[in-house]
Amino acid sequence: MDRLGDPRGRRIPFSVEFSPPRDADAEARLWRAVRVFERLGPAFVSMTYGAGGSTRDRTVRVTGELAEATTLLPVAHLTAVGHSIDELRAMVGAYADRGITNILALRGDPPGNPLGEWEQHPEGLAHADELVRLVRDLGDFHVGVASFPEGHHRSPDLDHDTRFMVNKLRAGAEYSITQMFFDVEHYLRLRDRVAAFDAEQAAKPIIPEIMPITSLRSARRSLELSGSNLPAALEERLVRAAGDGPEENRAAVREVGIDVATEMCERLISEGAPCLHFITLNFARATSEVLTRLGIEMPAPAAQPA
Ligand code: FAD
Repeated sequence: MDRLGDPRGRRIPFSVEFSPPRDADAEARLWRAVRVFERLGPAFVSMTYGAGGSTRDRTVRVTGELAEATTLLPVAHLTAVGHSIDELRAMVGAYADRGITNILALRGDPPGNPLGEWEQHPEGLAHADELVRLVRDLGDFHVGVASFPEGHHRSPDLDHDTRFMVNKLRAGAEYSITQMFFDVEHYLRLRDRVAAFDAEQAAKPIIPEIMPITSLRSARRSLELSGSNLPAALEERLVRAAGDGPEENRAAVREVGIDVATEMCERLISEGAPCLHFITLNFARATSEVLTRLGIEMPAPAAQPA
């Protein structure tokens, strides 16, 4: 496994998040990214779980292909949205049939409007801790959960948020992956809160999620959906880079986005983060640029036979 260097000579792993491709073109693009990351050696690759039957079928198929046709270790996200308990059991079984035993157990958001009212399926689950237990009871699965450095938008306060996050770890989750954030202090405070609440559970890895910004417009959309915030100084830098023309200056925004992601990773490494998890949107370029700046080199392609 390739690991990132840190100033003390210790090396930490990185991982990447993919999303289910919507059509054949998107699937081809995903596979191009997969092949790049395969050479960079992530600790694992995670595949998000969307709403809608056809997307779900494609997600299971493609995640299965990642397990079968690559050297990568897939982690399948699974949400309780719109599923009865029997359907959730069947989904876990479908992943297990394809050799996937790593599941990120999530409650999910209401389809269509992620910030709208959550409605539990009449025969389903209310919260992610129940899904953790369900998956663990089904067999020898490794289960992770979500955590929220700025607090989940439905939590009344950070104390409740920490308590519910620790509940998921106590239910059997082995690690958490955070929501994206742009101020490393939020991540460090989450770690402190968990340590103060339950020292034993705090030993489990809290993996920070990094989104290298390549477009101000799409970053704003992701922030809106995630409930995360841009620090004012960073927003100002990005707005200045985007310019005031009819189209944002993507190259300049990207430059700032890559600089900021690299600086955040350097700080996270020096603060002892256990792994760096990158949102890729199924593109390899921005993440591999950050990795290169952090000192991980892309191996040269194998020589082609004459
Ligand atoms: P929960 O842990 O159930 O928390 C939901 C809310 O309820 C929180 O406010 C929590 O504090 C509170 N709560 C938790 N347990 C209890 C309890 N027992 N009693 C009362 N309140 C409780 N969404 C997708 O649709 N697909 C994905 O693939 C996906 N991947 C994600 C990956 C990561 C790393 C992250 C951080 C989020 C992801 N999401 C995904 C979004 C996620 O599903 C939403 O943020 C969702 O609103 C919360 O999910 P959860 O698993 O944290 O839910």
